[in-house]
Amino acid sequence: MTNNQFDYIIVGAGSAGSVLANRLSSDPANKVCLLEAGPHDNSLLVSCPMGVVALMNTKKRNWSFNSKPQPTQNGREIFNPRGKTLGGSSSINAMVYIRGHKWDYDHWASLGNAGWSYEEVLPYFRSTQNQERGESKYHGVGGGLNVANGRSEHPIGKAFVEAGKQAGYPYNDDFNGAEQEGIGAYQATQINGERCSAARGFLRPVMDRPNLTVITDARAQRVLFEGKRAIGIEVLINKQPQRLYSNKELILSGGAFNSPQLLLLSGVGPKDELTKHNIKQQHELPGVGQNLQEHVDVVTVVKSRSSGPFSAHPSAWLYATKELWRYITQRKGFFTTNIVETGGFIKSSKDQAIPDLQLQFTPMTMDDHGRTLSFMFKLGLSLHNCLLRPKSRGSVTLASNDPNADPLIDLNMLSHPDDMATMIKAVRISQNLLAQPAVKQWNSEGIFPRNDQKSDEEIAEFLREKANHVYHPVGTCKMGNDPLAVVDDRLRVQGLDGLRVVDASIMPTLIGGNTNAPAIMIGAKAADMILADNNKDSGKRSKDLSESLSGSLSAKKTGSLESSPVESQEIA
Ligand SMILES: Cc1cc2nc3c(=O)[nH]c(=O)nc-3n(C[C@H](O)[C@H](O)[C@H](O)COP(=O)(O)OP(=O)(O)OC[C@H]3O[C@@H](n4cnc5c(N)ncnc54)[C@H](O)[C@@H]3O)c2cc1C
Repeated sequence: MTNNQFDYIIVGAGSAGSVLANRLSSDPANKVCLLEAGPHDNSLLVSCPMGVVALMNTKKRNWSFNSKPQPTQNGREIFNPRGKTLGGSSSINAMVYIRGHKWDYDHWASLGNAGWSYEEVLPYFRSTQNQERGESKYHGVGGGLNVANGRSEHPIGKAFVEAGKQAGYPYNDDFNGAEQEGIGAYQATQINGERCSAARGFLRPVMDRPNLTVITDARAQRVLFEGKRAIGIEVLINKQPQRLYSNKELILSGGAFNSPQLLLLSGVGPKDELTKHNIKQQHELPGVGQNLQEHVDVVTVVKSRSSGPFSAHPSAWLYATKELWRYITQRKGFFTTNIVETGGFIKSSKDQAIPDLQLQFTPMTMDDHGRTLSFMFKLGLSLHNCLLRPKSRGSVTLASNDPNADPLIDLNMLSHPDDMATMIKAVRISQNLLAQPAVKQWNSEGIFPRNDQKSDEEIAEFLREKANHVYHPVGTCKMGNDPLAVVDDRLRVQGLDGLRVVDASIMPTLIGGNTNAPAIMIGAKAADMILADNNKDSGKRSKDLSESLSGSLSAKKTGSLESSPVESQEIA
């Protein structure tokens, strides 16, 4: 085997790709290559939880996509941050540890996806986790993803939990346990007060495996095919074109925007879309890029009468300086906050069988993902409220056939009237929660919605003006067996060989909660399926492989956490 040949090539070192690389390379006989378009992750902005605010505004480790103008949202272009570094979006996310509702996975199974019921995915949630509270029926210890209680515990966050009780919602101290419903404190994917991304949890411990090659600054351009079999990938490594070959499988883990984009660029997708961009059709698959789902979210913001909240306001600077010192010396306090310390899962009406709204409370003012910096100088509180199972569907298509262009993202949120109706209820629920005595003492007048936005139609207009999302795009390479399915329930691309998609894009329907732990679960489950499928028919192949590996295990390890451009170029 030469240095540009591997058994498995994984495109994308994100939540799913990192755990996949870890597990596939656990057998020294497997030669694994992991490609990541972004740079390494060794930045304080990534490791320090508070860095999440700054990562939103930089492009170095964030794809910072914008959607196309959205007719359902007054023509706004909606910002879509995605991680572009080792760990992918888990390196820039808000670290809330949530798995979704049991119902979500039973629903996937009921759609004909064998092996994906809650009982069947629970072992993967457990095995990927290190729950600091200890092992239980629902939680595991010893996995790479460290799950910890908050170390900041802002008093207004606690007051919000109290307000939940005052409004009549149950208290819940474990949203990932027996019951999801209720209000309480979120656990965070952190270790010793630092971010525990998928790279920190799953890649860093295995970077020195001789059979794992990790290449950063390596942007995949298109899949290479021999007939209907994927045989490798064309990739720009530090802007130099290279071809890498996968003897067993090529796995796309680029996330819900990039994986469908790469399939389309490779001639796999709806015929019309390929023709429109002059791309030779390799295989017609109408569902590629369709079925995009996102958690539409509304933030209700109120001014604060005290200087208690987090803020960029000068009155908070002294406090922030002290807290920075506390972070440096103890890894505790304000700088360990994931901003979203408390929240919960509630029903928009009594007739809902399971929670259909998720609350995320932030003791600071938030507008446009925290990108309206002047707004963050105000003292106030913000309550996110998102719709967990929206009926609106969007799409990812191509802006052009240039592999280095951004994909065309059409979120199409709020296009379904039921979504708008529930979101109007969500605004009123948030206002009611913020009016409860426990938090009322902190806040004064409302900022969003404005005082003149009270009727249903006015609230609907407020939603068109301000509604956004909470960074959970899924569904664009959906798993299933219907005409729009892109992968089967073993995540193999329909009608092609040697090619799988393993990331959040395979979710047929959006789960009721944040999507990092589910993406990691998908990576871990896929690893088992890939190894099982390849071990079935690998009698002769594994013999050949071990012979060749004994001679060429020196495959160049590029892109370690200290990767350099020069090293990366040596791969060819
Ligand atoms: C700002 C933000 C906040 C969030 N907050 C939370 C939270 O608090 N809790 C939670 O559970 N979830 C949260 N999420 C969502 C969660 O992090 C993602 O759903 C999850 O990380 C997706 O995993 P993935 O493997 O599908 O994709 P990603 O983790 O996005 O990984 C895809 C990787 O592929 C790489 N890539 C893409 N294209 C190419 C290419 N052509 N060549 C090479 N590499 C490529 C990307 O650079 C990236 O590293 C948040 C997300 C964001 C962006």
